[in-house]
Amino acid sequence: ASFARIREVDADVKAFLTLNEDRALEQAEKLDKQIQNGGEVPFLFGMPAGIKDNIITQDLRTTCASQLLANFDPVHNATVMDKLGESETVTVGKLNMDEFAMGSSTENSGVQETRNPWNTEYVPGGSSGGSAASVAAGEVLFSLGSDTGGSIRQPASYCGVVGLKPTYGRVSRYGLVAFASSLDQIGPLTRSVEDNAYVLQQIAGHSENDSTSADVEVPNYLEALGKEVKGLKIGVPSEYIGEGVDEGVKQRVLEALKVLEEQGAVWEEVSLPHSKYAVAAYYLIASSEASANLARFDGVRYGVRDENAKDLVEMYKETRSKGFGEEVKRRIMLGTFALSAGYYDAYYKKAQQVRTLIRRDFEKVFADYDVIVGPTAPTTAFKLGEQLDDPLTMYANDILTIPVNLAGIPAISVPCGFSDSMPVGLQIIAKPFAEETIYTVAHAFE
Ligand code: GLN
Repeated sequence: ASFARIREVDADVKAFLTLNEDRALEQAEKLDKQIQNGGEVPFLFGMPAGIKDNIITQDLRTTCASQLLANFDPVHNATVMDKLGESETVTVGKLNMDEFAMGSSTENSGVQETRNPWNTEYVPGGSSGGSAASVAAGEVLFSLGSDTGGSIRQPASYCGVVGLKPTYGRVSRYGLVAFASSLDQIGPLTRSVEDNAYVLQQIAGHSENDSTSADVEVPNYLEALGKEVKGLKIGVPSEYIGEGVDEGVKQRVLEALKVLEEQGAVWEEVSLPHSKYAVAAYYLIASSEASANLARFDGVRYGVRDENAKDLVEMYKETRSKGFGEEVKRRIMLGTFALSAGYYDAYYKKAQQVRTLIRRDFEKVFADYDVIVGPTAPTTAFKLGEQLDDPLTMYANDILTIPVNLAGIPAISVPCGFSDSMPVGLQIIAKPFAEETIYTVAHAFE
């Protein structure tokens, strides 16, 4: 059914970069026999999944939507893929994204533009645009994305699906091609909150291959779903419903708060005063880490190599000049500059200090409130091409999601209605490792 649906809609939506049809159908047949023979049925058995193309999959092409990795077939799986394998999900294919996860519209893909299934003249958001669009279009039951500054939540919001960025360390990053290692986190995109909890349950947990994955117990997320929100205290940051936020988006968020209020939750306005510095700090930190992480794509170890170069240095230059797209080069240059001698203290160190202030803003609010609620993004999806020539406008899409990554805390985007016929996402943010609270609130609202 998944492949039939892909044949029906993907020529328009363009969510998939690679299909895994032969192997997926073979696996489905095997699972079918297993059921008929009364065999064991593991958690998530047979669920068709799409995987963002920066999560490595053994013997299945993984390009990060970059021409530099156009021929890269990994020799092993990311930890999340092994975990999904244990529960017998079926990998349907790999999903489009902004190249190396740098962008907010999936237009920075080095391969193709994915379109928003609600209206194909609009972007699906990004960088996990393929992950959100494939779920919204009914091509797969769930997908995995990655979120460094909003790349799961913002496309989930634009495409009207549920997307969770777990706490930093909740899910192993082993086998996620690193963009900004201190911010990156893998998470599920689904149609319902319940599905989301199922997928997180399967992919969460410590792995010895990722020293930043947390060695703390994984709770039963499904038990969080039925709980009441009565007495729960919600903080709504004035910065998240103030200037720059579309009126339609704001209205939907206020209506969502009303629904929670009717169930006995209380909400009050709070402040996250350093939010306004988050985008600036993020683009210094993320680009600095990216400039180091992307040094490995040199034409020697991975991917496509320029064959005409006369010596090693020319080969590096040609490979990287031709292989990387414009936005990736912009980030590498910005990051290299920010880390260079004489500038480190002025830029990188300062950005790290701002990061601490942003984390403390959240800690202060969480001393008195259980969750923070606001919009996921200041607007709904915009038209293809509309922000392409203006990187700074594009960066502003993540103004409400970036602070969460800088603080390392979990947050979800859950659909809360429409504005001008395009979906609006409600963001629910919680303390470190309080994904359960997020699911309780999201489910109560849904
Ligand atoms: N849009 C942000 C960026 O371009 C976030 C991307 C992400 O979360 N991967 O960096």
